Amino acid sequence: MTAKISQTPFSASRLPETIQRIGLGFDAHAFAAPEAGRPLILGGVEVPYERGLLGHSDADVLTHAIADALLGAARAGDIGTHFPDTDPSYAQANSLDLLARTKEVVCGSGWRIVDVDSVIVAQAPRLAPYRDEMRARLAQALDVKTDQIGVKATTTERLGFEGREEGISAQAIVLLQQPGRCNRAEQSEQPKQSGEGCAC
Ligand SMILES: [Zn+2]
Repeated sequence: MTAKISQTPFSASRLPETIQRIGLGFDAHAFAAPEAGRPLILGGVEVPYERGLLGHSDADVLTHAIADALLGAARAGDIGTHFPDTDPSYAQANSLDLLARTKEVVCGSGWRIVDVDSVIVAQAPRLAPYRDEMRARLAQALDVKTDQIGVKATTTERLGFEGREEGISAQAIVLLQQPGRCNRAEQSEQPKQSGEGCAC
């Protein structure tokens, strides 16, 4: 006797298709001379140090790497496309503001930010005391929870331009998901249903 195996038809067509994408971002900036008096801004936090980074904006290398990772995952160009350093309106720009605008681009394309991780490569200064504040400020700019943002810091054992203390680099990786909904809505008490689109 042959046993009958009950099979429930798989109604995949009735399930919303979930799409995930990852994005990678990298950025590097050289240190300015101490006499330039530039502040060192990383992840939106001013880190006490004798030298800041050179750049058209505030040269926040970590925030730039995260913005590029977001745009890469959304297939929406890169940070230079959206915020060209030839545009005088971005001179001394607060990079957290640029990150918030990047989030609007990503969210407006129907993507939800699932997770962000990053690493700052710097021989000096010591950054561990500032990581949690960076995570909080980045999370606020992206309208996500702080535990959705990872920030690490490492040295290169004095190898390379970071090791020679000529500058700082940063790398970031992000995960986006569709159906998207605004990350701001996700944190409200009555989140929107998936697939409603972004309300940014
Ligand atoms: Zn940059």
